[in-house]
Amino acid sequence: MSAVSVEEHSAAVETVLAALATRTAHRIPLADALGRVSFADVRSPVDLPLFRNSQMDGYAVDSRSVAIAPVTLPVSTIIAAGPVEAAVLSPGSAAKIMTGAPIPDGADAIVPVEDTTVHEAGSVTIERRRTAGEFVREQGSDVRTGTVLVEAGRVLEPRHISVLAAVGFGEVDVRSRPRVAVVTTGAELVDAGSTLTPGQIYDSNGITLAAHLRASGAEVVSVLRSSDEPSRFREILDAAAQSAELIITSGGVSMGDFEVVKDVLRPLGGNFGSVRMQPGGPQGITVFDGVPVLSFPGNPVSTVVSYIVFARNIVRRAAGLPPILSTTATLHESVVSPPGRRQLLRGRMRDDGRVELVAGPGSHLVAALAWADVLIDIDSATTELAAGSDVEVWPL
Ligand code: AMP
Ligand code: MG
Repeated sequence: MSAVSVEEHSAAVETVLAALATRTAHRIPLADALGRVSFADVRSPVDLPLFRNSQMDGYAVDSRSVAIAPVTLPVSTIIAAGPVEAAVLSPGSAAKIMTGAPIPDGADAIVPVEDTTVHEAGSVTIERRRTAGEFVREQGSDVRTGTVLVEAGRVLEPRHISVLAAVGFGEVDVRSRPRVAVVTTGAELVDAGSTLTPGQIYDSNGITLAAHLRASGAEVVSVLRSSDEPSRFREILDAAAQSAELIITSGGVSMGDFEVVKDVLRPLGGNFGSVRMQPGGPQGITVFDGVPVLSFPGNPVSTVVSYIVFARNIVRRAAGLPPILSTTATLHESVVSPPGRRQLLRGRMRDDGRVELVAGPGSHLVAALAWADVLIDIDSATTELAAGSDVEVWPL
């Protein structure tokens, strides 16, 4: 791969990741389904309400017996919400009833408790008249058996989970998530939380890529780290390829002496070279053991920019999530950009809706990445933009 444009490299990534979009159904507990994507239309197996029930705490009556009010009726029974024998209202009486309890046969209206006066002798005065159907929740008045409750492709939110539980589903078929492994490389890397010796740094790319992937709807099957030793990297890659449909590597792809990713994968058919963008110039694509491998440079900003530019929307599409698109913003300050390379600068949206630069273009500036909320996209032909110009920005 000689230097190619972002579009050319994106097209190559699309091709190698095409199979990721084919997903299967995965049956999971409804309790775990938040944020997952429904695989198929889900139809209601029942009517809702499931049975005719009371909308109020009050008295179930035959509306004909309360056509003229006030009227005093004997209280023949009490019906609570919960398992009940089929109840029948004795003619000319009232049945005390709680919200959600089944309405007895022979009753067609509910008188709310607020409209009654109770007498010690077991009778109740209905203070105002009620007509048939008042405060009665009819079976199926919410939804009928067979109606689609949640369409295929919906990202399941609490409201969808609510209706699926209400009709009795304990499980739901969701779209399987793309399974991705992350492999970081570098003899200098150790886990955050451990003690550093001179020359070591914390591995932030592994955890960062995993977080980005999860946010894109992927299942991160492993986050592994290799030294710069080719045999070790090969072992780790073999392990990653066992369960992943996509492997993302970081580091070891540029022009140094110990570029383990490039050194191992190029002889296996990997395509390594330079993309005309900054940061994130050195890139690689390999199919290893049938598993596509995207190789990003190790600088933390380069890794993240590479993920966003080349992989994020592909992973999201496979996961069934909508793409994250760029928008247009107005530059708060002037910007210069080297010719011949697409620049992705860290920017921050201001309260006035304009975008300002955050720190410089250095791809090691990881704190500035945290302060930024967009990437400012400047095409390779542009070398200068005045304050007030329109630019394309990508949400981070
Ligand atoms: P490389 O692409 O391997 O040449 O690495 C470029 C720079 O990124 C070096 O300063 C590395 O120490 C740093 N780097 C590489 N991998 C990581 C990582 N996983 N976490 C943090 N920094 C890294
Ligand atoms: Mg390295």
